Amino acid sequence: MKNIKIKFLLPALIGLFLFSGCAKEAPVTSSETTASTENEITIGLSLSDLRVERWQTDRDLFVNKADQLGASVIVVAADLDSDLQESQAENLILQKVDVLVIVANDSEKAAAIVEKAHAAGIKVIAYDRLIKNSDLDYYISFDNEKVGEYEAKGILDVVSSGDFAYLGGSPTDNNAFLVKEGSMKLLQPKIDSGEINLVLDEFNDGWKSDEAYKHLKAYLDANDGKIDAVVAANDGTALGAIQALGEVGLAGKVPVSGQDASLGACQLIAEGKQTVTVYKPIRSIAEKAAEMAVAAAKGHSPATNQTVNNGKIDVPSFLLDVTMVTKNNLMSTVIKDGFQTYDSVYQDIPEADRPKQN
Ligand code: BGC
Repeated sequence: MKNIKIKFLLPALIGLFLFSGCAKEAPVTSSETTASTENEITIGLSLSDLRVERWQTDRDLFVNKADQLGASVIVVAADLDSDLQESQAENLILQKVDVLVIVANDSEKAAAIVEKAHAAGIKVIAYDRLIKNSDLDYYISFDNEKVGEYEAKGILDVVSSGDFAYLGGSPTDNNAFLVKEGSMKLLQPKIDSGEINLVLDEFNDGWKSDEAYKHLKAYLDANDGKIDAVVAANDGTALGAIQALGEVGLAGKVPVSGQDASLGACQLIAEGKQTVTVYKPIRSIAEKAAEMAVAAAKGHSPATNQTVNNGKIDVPSFLLDVTMVTKNNLMSTVIKDGFQTYDSVYQDIPEADRPKQN
């Protein structure tokens, strides 16, 4: 019991700090948990950052599941700094963790971590983000192209022509490219036929809201506030876009996409300011990844459902399905699953306008 308490104390405190509202993008550099001596397996979990709401959920569910499986987790977070992530990983290797689970800040640079871990006989699992051009052992993620497809579909269901902005993810994250590819499957034919004018097309460092805000704001200022739709790659970039739109009176009038089904995004969808998000069941990825890590640490082969080529090898992978979420199915998706609660999603919606609860 004592070890469990130690393991949860720091992340819980950091979570509290982040959720307190005073530090939406607080510069958390590392949150170390203590390796338990009770458990024979120790997993090193290296996160790119804890700024985005979902990573705190990923961390907590992963640590919980690992604990149930009799493993301890040492968690570190690199605050979007790839060099820091590498030195934190080196430290985990020195601590002789049995397996490393990495949410890579930079899908290319993290190959160096795989090499160093392998030199020490430690297997590496890429969590949510592929590590490219490396001998990566396993990869677990969602169908990221589908995420992008749903983002574009959610927008095209509302507006199918005109001036479109694309606000992408981090240029160092492989997912940003997969998501964009998915969106472009639907958008490109319309761009080619001239129905859609792609007037703004930007990646956003660290998937940051303020970067997305700056990009869209600059465009709107220079173009008399004229835009018809914004395909934003996640709920963070969507939030930045909605803020910029709000300043020219367009929030709720121009459709905006996102992904993660974060609480803020679900509330904006309920309010009509965000059009679509993509729900990725975090419990499934976190628990499956913990099972993978424990199996790999024991020298077993974890269950996978396909391979994904990372530029060097075909990596045994497990990809999970995603769900498109709009105002119409908030209740039957994220709320039904207990991912978000009815009360928190509809907290700012007058009772008479809320959907009925069964
Ligand atoms: C994840 C998204 C997340 C983004 C920013 C991506 O790699 O797939 O769920 O919003 O990173 O952290």
